[in-house]
Amino acid sequence: MATLLVILAHPDDESFGPGGTLAKYAHHGVAVHYLCGTRGESGTVDAERLNGYADVAELRMAELACAAKELRLAGVHFLGYRDSGMAGAPHNGMEGTLHAAPLDEVAGRIASFIERLRPDAIITHDQYGGYGHPDHVKLHQATMRAYELLYGIEWKLQPDGLWSVVKQNAPAPRLYFTIIPKRLLKLGVRVMPLLRQDPRRFGRNKDIDLVQIASWDVPVTTRIDTRRYARIKQAASDCHASQQPPARGSRIVRFLFRRNSSFEYFARAYPPYRRGEKLETGLFGD
Ligand SMILES: [Zn+2]
Repeated sequence: MATLLVILAHPDDESFGPGGTLAKYAHHGVAVHYLCGTRGESGTVDAERLNGYADVAELRMAELACAAKELRLAGVHFLGYRDSGMAGAPHNGMEGTLHAAPLDEVAGRIASFIERLRPDAIITHDQYGGYGHPDHVKLHQATMRAYELLYGIEWKLQPDGLWSVVKQNAPAPRLYFTIIPKRLLKLGVRVMPLLRQDPRRFGRNKDIDLVQIASWDVPVTTRIDTRRYARIKQAASDCHASQQPPARGSRIVRFLFRRNSSFEYFARAYPPYRRGEKLETGLFGD
């Protein structure tokens, strides 16, 4: 039985991001493990949602447990850090945050999970952290560093946004980044002002600049058909009720937020993508 390890920063990244892919592989008998960087305790939550929970972390753990059940995950694990806000948010430098932790410490914790779970493939954030969240960027860097520690891999970022391997000492699990399809986003950024929405001030906290994000190109190497799992992805996303986007009535925002329920997109870092290779349709060379 194959094992897939997903390393993302927050409880909800697994569902809002590659949820359809996780559901698909779990359905096909792959052991899908989620290694979550933080418990999402700094996230903003409407006060009435906290009824019955000791704190935000407890609420978000319950939401993640609900999503894990929908996606049929084999296990949920935690790196044990506190989360931070977008760049410049006040508590970002606080002790115990993923943001403030030394890179090698985070990489060491990730490496020990990789050694224990022995995954065939790993999914993490891309070098831009998807939409630029510092916790996402940190986990990307720490996972790349874990590959250096475990397999002696020396990475080189190519001008086109793909990664190559300069040298390595041992074979490594396949490595993918979950990515936002930029073509769709570029279209959204043009359409939003027509609907009197500011694409530079997007999201629950209005701190997401979609114009900048649309300029961060990471080439798609892998496109997974998740149409049959769209309902499960939606159910898992619904579990994270406290993290839903505010403008529920706005179709374009909802459309953008869900990205695409038909296909999910990835960039393969290992084994390195060879120029001219055809688009992959799975994570295991399938
Ligand atoms: Zn996140």
